[in-house]
Amino acid sequence: MANYRNVLVAVDFSEESKAVVKKAFEIAARNQASLILLHVVEYASSMYAGDIPLPEDLNLDRDLAEQAVLKLKALANENGIPEAAQYVEIGIPKREIVCLAEEHEADLIVVGSHGRHGLQLLLGSTANGVLHQAKCDVLAVRVGG
Ligand code: AMP
Repeated sequence: MANYRNVLVAVDFSEESKAVVKKAFEIAARNQASLILLHVVEYASSMYAGDIPLPEDLNLDRDLAEQAVLKLKALANENGIPEAAQYVEIGIPKREIVCLAEEHEADLIVVGSHGRHGLQLLLGSTANGVLHQAKCDVLAVRVGG
């Protein structure tokens, strides 16, 4: 197996996230690689289709991102991943995952084979999108049976 130097693990906070992070942590440790942890908050404002106008100062994405920072911190702490290696981005998950991987010259991206978007599929839509767009290796940790 290749020696990896920079590993990125992406989590969606589904039940399987702990197992995905654990696997990434083990691979990083075995390769003496750096490890960064990412969660992407999907654009919420653009998904709102209600009739009632939202208050102008309501920033759903920002609020969700603040909550995500806390959740990610808890997950990172369980694996001793430092704060500087924890990232919360807002956008389209597959794009942000690939983008951060490129910024950090990641040579391995670890995702779950399935998450919130697709237990019925062979590979979830985010995992599939990352696999198609990434320029580095991608490991889909088999979750959900
Ligand atoms: P999916 O393809 O959406 O079913 O999810 C498969 C995997 O992609 C998850 O287990 C995560 O590793 C990753 N993923 C999905 N959504 C996100 C997200 N919003 N932020 C970070 N990673 C994600």
